[in-house]
Amino acid sequence: MRTRKITLSEQEIPDKWYNILADMPNKPLPPLHPGTGEPVGPEDLAPLFPMELIKQEVSTDRWIDIPDEVRNIYSLWRPTPLYRAYGLEKALDTPAKIYYKYEGVSPSGSHKPNTAVPQAYYNAKEGVKKITTETGAGQWGSALSFACKHFGMECDVYMVKVSYDGKPYRKVMMNTWGANVYASPSNRTEAGRKILAEHPDSPGSLGIAISEAIEMAAGDPDTKYALGSVLNHVKLHQTIIGQEAILQMEKAGDMPDIVIAPFGGGSNFAGLSFPFLRLNLTEGRNIRCIASEPASCPKLTRGVFRYDFGDTIGMTPLLPMYTLGHNFVPEPIHAGGLRYHGAGVIVSQLLKDGLIEARSHKNNEVFEAGVIFARSEGIIPAPEATHGIATAIAEAKKCKEEGVSKTILFNLCGHGNFDMKAYEDYFAGKIVDHELTDAEIQASIAELTTPEIP
Ligand SMILES: *Cc1c(COP(=O)(O)O)cnc(C)c1O
Repeated sequence: MRTRKITLSEQEIPDKWYNILADMPNKPLPPLHPGTGEPVGPEDLAPLFPMELIKQEVSTDRWIDIPDEVRNIYSLWRPTPLYRAYGLEKALDTPAKIYYKYEGVSPSGSHKPNTAVPQAYYNAKEGVKKITTETGAGQWGSALSFACKHFGMECDVYMVKVSYDGKPYRKVMMNTWGANVYASPSNRTEAGRKILAEHPDSPGSLGIAISEAIEMAAGDPDTKYALGSVLNHVKLHQTIIGQEAILQMEKAGDMPDIVIAPFGGGSNFAGLSFPFLRLNLTEGRNIRCIASEPASCPKLTRGVFRYDFGDTIGMTPLLPMYTLGHNFVPEPIHAGGLRYHGAGVIVSQLLKDGLIEARSHKNNEVFEAGVIFARSEGIIPAPEATHGIATAIAEAKKCKEEGVSKTILFNLCGHGNFDMKAYEDYFAGKIVDHELTDAEIQASIAELTTPEIP
């Protein structure tokens, strides 16, 4: 029998996270304090994050030890399987070899617990009682709810309204793990009330929900805030994915030419690709790493590289990143986890330096890819994950046209078992391909008053 599923033993779960900051030729510019314009220091972040995570945020050590307690919880679902996609290869009639790493086997069904668990762990260790956060489609909120419950902390989740209304089971999942869930924009915060006063029908956005969660954490010494993407320490924790994938590819006697992952703020992309980029940066390999984003929220392919806020109200430090502007509210697509205006600073710098690539896909194309995948491989992908599949299919088709065989690896970062409404809409022909005009993007960017990057 040919090997379809490449597994590792629990003992092979990596015991360190990989920090790409150690190997980047150009380090990212520093985050700036919006008031002073000076680089932010640990003391600026201390009201929001535990000190150990702040240290990780700025560390340039190449390897950072994974605490035993965290590795122990990881073993509930890690190592995750890596599959050779024989079914998809056959469906596409491609000479390409396609592999995917499957993160949907975690308790909440995506890669998010890889960072939720260590974030909850460090908070609990420093005596924090409650964590506030935002969530889009509910993947991050459910992961953090699970992790907080494990360490006996409370969890308050601000869920983007369009998802709160459209994905009720994700909310119930969070409630099951003991979290409180609020539709954002809410009346609980000044940020939420301000948005509601201007736009009573606001569908919400990740940027708005972040403002609300930060406001609640900043006002209470026993409460801290957690972010599910974008930040350096989040990407760091996710590198467990790519490290396992390298071991699995070696076991399969193969190595990818192309590594692909969907892109919201960059955490699952970083998680899979950074360990492979390490091979490029330190061993002279030439593995292409491609981030896949929705055409309706195209910060990597059509945004600008400049300082911008991570949230809508402007409470976060200014981050040097590819952005569509912090006031940009993406169309309410089903891939809620990709509806974010900016990209993490490390990934932005890598893109600026030409070390990674990005491409965008229209809404119907990604659902078509998701259905092809479900019918050939069995697993129903999360709407976010279908973006990576669409890029993998495009690359596999190119192989066929050019008559070359390449090895493609993509991140199947979550299952779509709670996203049947999205598939129902697709089958009913209700999925809209939103065309963003240059004028719309320019208008959003024109609202930025933050410093240009020379
Ligand atoms: C959150 C999420 C994303 C987007 O966030 P990244 O930080 O870019 O990974 C993509 N896919 C799934 C399944 C998610 O839960």
